[in-house]
Amino acid sequence: MRAPLKAAALCLFMAISLCSAQEPKNPLAPYIAIPDAVVALTHVEVMDGTGAPARADQTLVLSGGKIQSIGPADSVRIPAGARILDLTGRTVFPGLVGMHEHLFYTETDTPLLNEYLVGQAQQTAPRLYLAAGVTSGRTTGSMEPYADLSIRRAIAAGLEPGPDLDITGPYLDGPGTILPQNVQLRDAADARETVNYWADQGVTSFKAYMWIKPEALKAAIDAAHARGLKITGHLCSVSFPEAAAMGIDNLEHGILVDSEFKPGRKPGVCSPGNAGIANIAEHVDINGPQVQSLIHTLVEHHVAVTSTLAVFESIAPNRPPMRFLVREQESMMPQAWASVLETRAAIAEHAAQSYWPAALKKEMAFERAFVAAGGLLMAGCDPTGYGAILPGYGDQRGLELLVEAGFTPAQAIQIATSNGARYLGREKEIGTLAAGKQADIVVVRGDVAKDITAVEYVEYVFKKGVGYDPEKLIDSTRGMVGIR
Ligand SMILES: [Zn+2]
Repeated sequence: MRAPLKAAALCLFMAISLCSAQEPKNPLAPYIAIPDAVVALTHVEVMDGTGAPARADQTLVLSGGKIQSIGPADSVRIPAGARILDLTGRTVFPGLVGMHEHLFYTETDTPLLNEYLVGQAQQTAPRLYLAAGVTSGRTTGSMEPYADLSIRRAIAAGLEPGPDLDITGPYLDGPGTILPQNVQLRDAADARETVNYWADQGVTSFKAYMWIKPEALKAAIDAAHARGLKITGHLCSVSFPEAAAMGIDNLEHGILVDSEFKPGRKPGVCSPGNAGIANIAEHVDINGPQVQSLIHTLVEHHVAVTSTLAVFESIAPNRPPMRFLVREQESMMPQAWASVLETRAAIAEHAAQSYWPAALKKEMAFERAFVAAGGLLMAGCDPTGYGAILPGYGDQRGLELLVEAGFTPAQAIQIATSNGARYLGREKEIGTLAAGKQADIVVVRGDVAKDITAVEYVEYVFKKGVGYDPEKLIDSTRGMVGIR
């Protein structure tokens, strides 16, 4: 009742002509650049998401929210009345399918307050994801699951801009967790009840977290599967091979968080610290028997891996380049930006002792080897760490880092689009550019096949055939990330 009352009150102060007979407005209109029902994207380079090499001088016709036709520019017939965009010098690729897209922001460090809290960012994160080209996203762990479900409903109803969201339930965690917002599952029964409760509320995936007890993880996996839902994990108490044997569908972050490499590890117990990462950085050979056996186990059990290179990179000294980081500043509240610069400077001061450059290289080599062995690698943003990686920006940086890892630009795009679509069981609708597919398309300036950093220069993001203006989406978040 409050909104109509407020509107009525407002009308008392406005000219009657403004308040009477108003058309119902599309709340997304301020963010839309290309609202036309039929659009032709002409003379554009296409990277179709399958991993195939780029094709020059193509034309796509979008109609009814779908790709009606796609092919060489001189062979595609453009319907009369279509809005025609000449995209010479641009590249198009499928809307990104982001597989680690939290709707929260890890708060600025507060040394006088001890608890580590995470602030909800549902008013800014979906806009930044969409602006960066993410048209479908999995939230991969929720701090405020009711709020996440609410923003998904608003996006689906066309009331808020953002990607289509697969909402992951609350982090399924255990006793000893350092995150006070997480549930501490007592046992298998508690895990089953929690999974069923949130599945009833409408979440569509689950994620287990570092301190979950093995028996709770096994029960959560089985309960999720009984509901036809998938479950991923950022694990610690349970190693990757143990989780694969239990039937988990996906593991986040890659080898750096596999606790089997932590010296002195006790099964079922998560011991804090980065000893495992340091060990991998300094001693573990990606071509050695333990890693090769791990890769074999994951591939054999059809366990997908989500690459989150951008957040790992942010912990390495003097990375990412300032050129990249300054793009995020306008979206951030000033304290958050100051905190990022301060932490970055502190990391740079201890550069000589950092094992992160070596760790990042090992993670990249693992991801290459996993794909070479037939593993399903997907990509996500994971806007966490010390706050340097914002929603959307991290997805773009992830593509650049996949190329640094040795994938071709076409493979990097495939990992971030059709691989995620395949995991979600949505590959018939999204993830590639072909006739009949949903018109989820990113238009960027430049030639992505020659220079992957072109993904930062987004001109339009089409979601279901509607062309959004990234500048306007980003403008609407100005100074807000870190607050809401
Ligand atoms: Zn995460």
